[in-house]
Amino acid sequence: MPKNQNNKYFFINQEIPFPTNQYTSIKHNYPSHLGIIFIGKISTSILTKIDFYINKIFRSFFYEILFIGEAEIPSTLVESEIRKEHNLLKQGSKKVILQPTNKIYNIINHLMKEHNFNIGLGLTDLPIYSSNDESLLFLFGESNINHRCAIVSTHNLIPHFNKESGYNLKVSNRIIKEVIHEIGHIIIGLEHCLTADCVMRYSKNIEEIDNKSVDLCKKCQSKLNEVRRKNNF
Ligand SMILES: [Zn+2]
Ligand SMILES: [Zn+2]
Repeated sequence: MPKNQNNKYFFINQEIPFPTNQYTSIKHNYPSHLGIIFIGKISTSILTKIDFYINKIFRSFFYEILFIGEAEIPSTLVESEIRKEHNLLKQGSKKVILQPTNKIYNIINHLMKEHNFNIGLGLTDLPIYSSNDESLLFLFGESNINHRCAIVSTHNLIPHFNKESGYNLKVSNRIIKEVIHEIGHIIIGLEHCLTADCVMRYSKNIEEIDNKSVDLCKKCQSKLNEVRRKNNF
């Protein structure tokens, strides 16, 4: 059983009233069920904040946001497809085991089916590399639009000396921005925004994450409104 079962955020069920007059004949993509899945050892202290910002930025897109604590990677999968890389960002010669994003998407997809999530976002402390582009190492996050799921890795969002002591404000803001960014991709598409402080701007390092806001710019906001209009809500 997950360890944080008693945490009040182990399962949050936030229902936003479903529009009552439209769901009989039109197939809706939204509002939908979003599952946030913690894979590996992730501090739950950030849950309230994630919940707050998803509801603020994607208001009414999700009538249910559920959190699942500490999903484990099945032991048969743990050793498969891993890459061992020198951790260039931190400690010179120490090798870091990187997990491919496809493996994590599989785990998320499995849990999405089990819990009837339409969208799944995995949050992990494991370092990840892109299965789609193997030259992309130490990713902050990636989304898979076809499978309607995404992954955010906290591995390089947290300074090394701080790994055990939970999240400070700066770190939790980075995690929130990356979570919003990846969910944004699933809803409004893969394109990155060029607006300086838009959350949909691509960040190649943590400084660039720190320099952007958690919000969508006007252009991205209007893309979101377009999806809302197409789905009649
Ligand atoms: Zn992106
Ligand atoms: Zn934008």
